[in-house]
Amino acid sequence: MTKIRKLLVANRGEIALRVMRTAREMGIRTVAIYSEADRLSPHVRYADEAVCVGPAPSAESYLKADVIIDVCRKLNVDAIHPGYGFLSENAAFARLVREAGLIFVGPSPEAIEIMGSKLGAKAAVAAYNIPMVPGTPDAIMDRGEAKRTAAQIGYPILIKASAGGGGKGMRIVEREEEFDEGMDRAVSEAISAFGDGSVFIEKYVTSPRHVEIQVLGDQHGNIIHLFERECSVQRRHQKVVEEAPSAILTPQIRAEMGRCAVDVARACGYYGAGTVEFIVDDQLNFYFLEMNTRLQVEHPVTEQITGIDLVKQMIYIAEGKPLEIRQEALEIKGHAVEVRVYAEDPANNFLPDVGTLHTYVRPQGNGVRLDDGFEEGMTIPIFYDPMIAKLITYGATREEAIEKMIRAIDEYQISGVQTTLPFCRFVMEHEAFRSGQFDTHFVQRYFTPEMLQQTGDATETRLAAALAAYLLETGKPKGKAAAGEVVTQKSKWRERRLG
Ligand code: ADP
Ligand code: ADP
Ligand code: MG
Repeated sequence: MTKIRKLLVANRGEIALRVMRTAREMGIRTVAIYSEADRLSPHVRYADEAVCVGPAPSAESYLKADVIIDVCRKLNVDAIHPGYGFLSENAAFARLVREAGLIFVGPSPEAIEIMGSKLGAKAAVAAYNIPMVPGTPDAIMDRGEAKRTAAQIGYPILIKASAGGGGKGMRIVEREEEFDEGMDRAVSEAISAFGDGSVFIEKYVTSPRHVEIQVLGDQHGNIIHLFERECSVQRRHQKVVEEAPSAILTPQIRAEMGRCAVDVARACGYYGAGTVEFIVDDQLNFYFLEMNTRLQVEHPVTEQITGIDLVKQMIYIAEGKPLEIRQEALEIKGHAVEVRVYAEDPANNFLPDVGTLHTYVRPQGNGVRLDDGFEEGMTIPIFYDPMIAKLITYGATREEAIEKMIRAIDEYQISGVQTTLPFCRFVMEHEAFRSGQFDTHFVQRYFTPEMLQQTGDATETRLAAALAAYLLETGKPKGKAAAGEVVTQKSKWRERRLG
């Protein structure tokens, strides 16, 4: 076992901060890296030491493996945590880290490699009894044959890039006439986005729900799962709202999915924190999609319902410690919901809307957790993922977590950029979400930009809250209230607005 004393976090923003916070709790010194665009970022200030690794574009900074390893040598770092995105699922990087005599806080390069290819992953788990979406087991070489397979499976089908990720490299084909065009596009997209044109076919599951299982494995062969997260509210095949537990799983299905997820991890000798993703159909059949070999964006909901700090476990595992948590001892307590706050305009197709955070006031209070990476006045760079924050609420029941989320969203004040917050509030209030009867088509089925106007009351409440906060800060309301007269901030505000 090697005790980690100094950890470099090869990432930026909220996840860099999130990892460093745990490191600090564990008495581990932290090193931040940053690009020229992130000079003033909170993660840079939070770290014990920080090193600029290059200009703004990630290819010239956060993805510079050799520069990052060099920093480790110079500063006597003994381990690297990659966060998510960037180098986190890069097997070559994990290998370089190992060869440099450093600890990679994550799985082995071999496991990353296997699971980095969706087809490789399916092949690796073939020896286990894991339900799979009907489709082609190999990359498509012969189009005619692929077309026949597609006809057998039945349309609609999904053409997927084996190397795909982040919701990219997927194409739905509704009928046979569209097959050839779909293939052409899928292959060229796969080549341009991932440098690998391997594509395969999956049946397009109707009414699909995305349910994933968190796993933890140590370097001694122990693997456990920490239940599920449901991430069915998506735009562009990418998650915006997540929760744990799922509103629909029965204890029996949960146990089966958990067993499958542990087997998937076992199939690649997995250690560290990982996520096994499944798609669930309207009959509650589940199918293995892929494994993500890293800490997931939405990991906090699992932390809330299990009370386990996943980053702390990742660090222990990287040090070679055996897992101390036993499967039987784990239980779900309460319910957690997360919304991703992106600088995107939900009224304009969720297009990125980067700019400066003129107002940035965080929600607080019981059951609210905010993982963010910005401060008021900061500019959101165009070079990276436009996520500002993850807002997580935790309650005794799903209902309570949702109510807290609505309250927290109303407290959260952001001006200067459009964000996904109004959309997330819309989700929280929607009958389909409230009842748990929804799937990945939520956005396309229920959402139009006009819906946001209908929540005008919410905006009003938020503005009133903003004014209230302002008045609190600047002292008492300067109105002419007579002694004993109750002046609510909201009525004051209405007065001003009307007057
Ligand atoms: P998660 O699967 O953790 O919930 P996302 O699905 O939003 O998160 O993104 C998955 C991962 O892919 C994240 O680590 C994200 O940084 C990364 N990512 C985002 N865009 C792309 C892309 N175009 N290609 C590859 N990976 C991406
Ligand atoms: P990525 O690597 O981009 O995360 P995934 O295979 O995990 O790719 O799929 C991302 C999302 O695409 C899923 O969460 C789901 O919404 C949708 N999806 C993937 N496969 C299917 C399928 N066979 N049927 C229906 N939807 C799917
Ligand atoms: Mg996925």
